[in-house]
Amino acid sequence: MSKGHALGASYRLVEQVGSGAAGLVWKAIDTRTEEVVAAKVLRAELATDTAVVERFVRERSILVGLQHRNLVKVRDLIVDGDQLGIVMDFVAGGSLRDVIDTEHTLAPALAADVAASVLAGLEFAHRRGVLHRDIKPDNVLLEPNWRADAADGAKVTDFGIAGMITDTPRTTTGLLGTPQYMSPELISAGTSGPATDIYGVGVLLYELLAGRTPFAGPGTDFTVAYRHVTASVPKIVVPPDLQRILDALLDKRPSARPSAAEAASALRKLAPSLRDVAALPAPEAPKEFTPSGRPATALRGVAIESRTPRAVETDAADTGSIVAPAEAPDLGVAANATRHRPLPQRPAPEEAVDGAQDATPQPRPWWRSRRAILAIVGAILILGGAVVLAVKLSSGGKDAPVAEGQAFEATQTDSSSPTGLTISRTAEYDQTSGTIRLAIRYASQNSVLQSPFLEVLPGLNGGTCPNVAWPDSPQKRNLSTATGMAVPCGWSVERRELPPQSAQEVQAEVRQPIASQEELQSWLDAAAEATSTAVSDPEVISTAYPAQRLQGVDVQTAPRVVSEKTVDVTLIPIWPSGDDPINPLYKSPSVGEPSTMLVAIAGGLDGIRFSDGCSGALSVSADGLTVTALSQNPACTVDATVGNFTNLKSAPFAIVTRGR
Ligand code: ADP
Ligand code: MG
Repeated sequence: MSKGHALGASYRLVEQVGSGAAGLVWKAIDTRTEEVVAAKVLRAELATDTAVVERFVRERSILVGLQHRNLVKVRDLIVDGDQLGIVMDFVAGGSLRDVIDTEHTLAPALAADVAASVLAGLEFAHRRGVLHRDIKPDNVLLEPNWRADAADGAKVTDFGIAGMITDTPRTTTGLLGTPQYMSPELISAGTSGPATDIYGVGVLLYELLAGRTPFAGPGTDFTVAYRHVTASVPKIVVPPDLQRILDALLDKRPSARPSAAEAASALRKLAPSLRDVAALPAPEAPKEFTPSGRPATALRGVAIESRTPRAVETDAADTGSIVAPAEAPDLGVAANATRHRPLPQRPAPEEAVDGAQDATPQPRPWWRSRRAILAIVGAILILGGAVVLAVKLSSGGKDAPVAEGQAFEATQTDSSSPTGLTISRTAEYDQTSGTIRLAIRYASQNSVLQSPFLEVLPGLNGGTCPNVAWPDSPQKRNLSTATGMAVPCGWSVERRELPPQSAQEVQAEVRQPIASQEELQSWLDAAAEATSTAVSDPEVISTAYPAQRLQGVDVQTAPRVVSEKTVDVTLIPIWPSGDDPINPLYKSPSVGEPSTMLVAIAGGLDGIRFSDGCSGALSVSADGLTVTALSQNPACTVDATVGNFTNLKSAPFAIVTRGR
């Protein structure tokens, strides 16, 4: 990725402004409005992690909905091919970390104002059930005027990102965040709640006042984290009222901490009385820590002290089914980097024991609850074991009760999809191996089409999904986490590009005993039917498998455009679930590479051609991609061809003369 590179259809990356744990941060331009924005483009390894992509897509609406003056506004979460980007408001004054690095300490009144702003942002998110999970000065960005107006100028960023890019359900990872800012309950019991964020603000406020976090000092992340549980907060010299608030924020018992609203209001009230209190001198780290007097507890799964361990009080609702890691978490060397610390990876459900997920049809998305995910993974592993065992027991070569020498054959052809894709299937049953040899043929009409294509290969009469081999090129299972489509027995079939008016075949060997000609035909029809049903499901919100799922294209312009200017035209995809204006197929004038969807249904930019729908009032560039308004017209349209979709027309719009 480089300068000038496009992110999605609407953003152009201008220059890199930072880099963080999750990826690079760019200054970018929203080409629709020419506004400067910030785009965090996630590291490639995160962007190709299906679990991350799933959470990213799922949490999009939550994050985009979090709008508050103390939160960095998330404008958009972009999924474009294998790029994931978070588009935010650009905040030009750097981070609170930069301020601490240069000034070490802040005057108490300013520190209180900043902490109150952070709390106000948290209050807003907490009321919507969203936790931050990684509060620290690095994640507080500042407007250039923040000193004069801290109530407006300090903004929390990276909401929920720590959770989003960690690769196992949170209840089993627990240790998520940055050791210097982690709460005792997170470290001791792996639990977290709103009070965990409040503790983070306590550490942040302490750091703004003292120039250091309470438990920073010699040792590794492990020892730093451990001090949150066992050591009392080293005293600093601040007015007693401020000390009381600080103590409450940093209380080791989550239930004793104030809510974000209470703490924000207490700090705002106190701030004016702190006006004349000077900032503390730059700090020195304490050499020793005083035990807190509370009994020591174990860092999850690790006995730290021989004294009777007793859990630090945790919020009851959160304690649920905590799984302690089998090994000591290796927290490595002290740093203020965000830790994303998973347990040893569990296989994703779809990749569990071969054939396993197929035994549990999952028509609804199953990841709704984090508890459910664990229960389901467990159940799938058990079921998977049972299925494998059953297959082993039954595969003694006596599968098919078929008379020697009989050959069954069946064929089937789908009606073509609006993109011009026609799928036909031929099945032949090989009785010696008990295998259906299936040939799937993909044919295009007027447009270049691009795989992957979804293909459902079910068990006979709704039974267990059969084993499938792909002799000419190995194919992948449909991963619901990547495609947003939970399809039992689904495969994601990759082929080379299909030029217009061409066809390609793929062979599959499906291990499925068949008793008769009729049975083979009904299996083949059921496979085709299951595939069509999956790709036309109106409940599914996804941009996957465009060649099969795209129903139409909507050509959109502004209701009024100005003569002698380029007309902005957007191509909105229409899916079985409706149209998706957030992820357009294409925007003209173009800013870079075409979307993956456009490549899939039209081969890219070559597949688009705009034309004048109002007798000379519009002109179109030679490549057919840029439209310019020429003369006044009360009701003009842009006509378009996009791949196999011809005769597309925008709604009528007016061309007006500038200044009228
Ligand atoms: P991460 O949290 O992934 O480690 P950060 O969010 O800290 O990364 O971003 C790294 C740097 O990018 C920040 O220090 C800051 O300089 C810059 N940055 C991040 N978000 C924005 C933004 N919205 N506006 C301006 N600069 C930003
Ligand atoms: Mg950050």
